[in-house]
Amino acid sequence: MDKTTEFKKLMTKVSSDTNTTLPQGYQYRYAPYNCWKCSKEIIIYKWANSLLEGEMSEPPAPIPVTLKQRHTAMSDETYWANVCPSCDSVQGDFFINHEPDSPFFVLDEIIDDEKSFNKDLEQIADYYYGQIVSWPLQN
Ligand SMILES: [Zn+2]
Repeated sequence: MDKTTEFKKLMTKVSSDTNTTLPQGYQYRYAPYNCWKCSKEIIIYKWANSLLEGEMSEPPAPIPVTLKQRHTAMSDETYWANVCPSCDSVQGDFFINHEPDSPFFVLDEIIDDEKSFNKDLEQIADYYYGQIVSWPLQN
């Protein structure tokens, strides 16, 4: 089995384990991730235009249930964040987008088309399986 096929099977398994549904279409990129707080394997998402504004743009509908709006008291802003379905902790945008151990580190801006989706998924799979020895590094 090639990496991308294996990765898709893994995604199906994790989404089923976490009682979530993977988005259809090509607007989202997704990857398995270990919650920094409870260590449970969850799915994190990234979407078009989420990169530049640090996940503050509205995710495209239908929005995955683990993307939730949160409010930060410090800067008095509401933003969208990946949230753990098990313990409700926010998975930090900075780690998800900019840390070298994040599965999304390899991605450019998300483009909503099939070709770009398949290319990105392949890259995420490659990167995920290349990193898995030291996974997770985030805590
Ligand atoms: Zn958790």
